[in-house]
Amino acid sequence: MWAELEPVGWAPSGGYRRFAWSAEDLTLREWFAAECARRGLDLTVDRVGNQWAWWWDGPGTVDDAVAAGRPGVAIGSHLDSVPDGGAFDGPLGVVSALATVDALRAAGVTPDVPLAVVNFVDEEGARFGIACAGSRVLTGQLSPERALALTDADGTTYAEALRAAGRDPDELGPDEQTLRRVGTFVELHVEQGRALVDLGTPVAVASDIWPHGRWRFDFPGEANHAGTTRLEDRRDAMLGYADLVLGARHVATQRGCVATVGKVAVTPGGVNAIPAHVTGWLDARGPQEDQVRALVEELTGRAGELGAEVTRESWTPTTRFDTDLADRLRGVLRGAVGTETPVSVPVLGTGAGHDAGILATAGVPSAMLFVRNPTGVSHSPAEHAEREDCHAGVEALTACVRDLTRGGPDGEPAPGVVRRADGDV
Ligand SMILES: [Zn+2]
Repeated sequence: MWAELEPVGWAPSGGYRRFAWSAEDLTLREWFAAECARRGLDLTVDRVGNQWAWWWDGPGTVDDAVAAGRPGVAIGSHLDSVPDGGAFDGPLGVVSALATVDALRAAGVTPDVPLAVVNFVDEEGARFGIACAGSRVLTGQLSPERALALTDADGTTYAEALRAAGRDPDELGPDEQTLRRVGTFVELHVEQGRALVDLGTPVAVASDIWPHGRWRFDFPGEANHAGTTRLEDRRDAMLGYADLVLGARHVATQRGCVATVGKVAVTPGGVNAIPAHVTGWLDARGPQEDQVRALVEELTGRAGELGAEVTRESWTPTTRFDTDLADRLRGVLRGAVGTETPVSVPVLGTGAGHDAGILATAGVPSAMLFVRNPTGVSHSPAEHAEREDCHAGVEALTACVRDLTRGGPDGEPAPGVVRRADGDV
């Protein structure tokens, strides 16, 4: 599977350009459909364009099973990329999910509840600017009206892109019927950051997605000649901005957060003109919500003294994954992955957003598995995972799915009823 995906959307820069609803994306969607057909999975596409491939050999349809108290288990991720992205972010989760189906079949296992492999559309938001658009519209966290009006760098709207891909934009909207089928979602993902190398284990379970937000800082000044204006007569907007950039690093270090000023706009923007107005955008995240808030408050105070106006553009509080589900998966994985001696599986938080976080927010019990990234580099061609670690990831996902799809209303607890690692219901 990996070899077939390798050339799709590869750019001469060395990274991948696989943007939502582009020709490359359509090739990837066809590849996914073919892999599912090869396995005899029943492919459905929801109102948003997310692809769900179901494996259900029990009586009746998937919806019958759900109605009978056997909600499904979904596994998968996304196939799109950021500009010049790496090979693993997204595809590793989709390929591992398909490999998990193969592993279950090789072991003679038939799930007692429906199992789906999912390919979420437009996770990175690289083309239209909103990350996790596929899962956000699905769960009603992004309105179809707002989504359809989004434009890409060429001025193409989301609606036009859908039409060009052969889809009806009027169909776009929340999809209750699809969501009802999903009792549990598990997303395997390459680690984005560097923790597992130091911990010496190939796989981790996610605890939460860090709180994160974006703020716009507008610094006022006065345009004037860079040569003839005395220093004491200047109102240079860039000085306040410089204070923000250095302050962000300083305060983030003190408070155990990360803060980045990655975008700036200067007016008038002439080399020989004193800046009359500077806008800087702050991205702040961290494991502790109160610390992230305190960081932004401190920077807002400093900037306020320099006459700046601060506008919050977005804020997402901590997204906690289902604790019982995470505990259950840790219990399953203890000793099941890449080692003969039982080891405790680490639990990691992450500073990156994911479809699993969007589903968790919508009330779907969700979990994530991270596969070791030796350098921690992500969203770059240097993103990597060793082959044996990828295999350990498949092994881990298979063990989790085996556990989650066992039983039903007549026997063992169904996936909706989460058992603790020690076996208590
Ligand atoms: Zn991803």
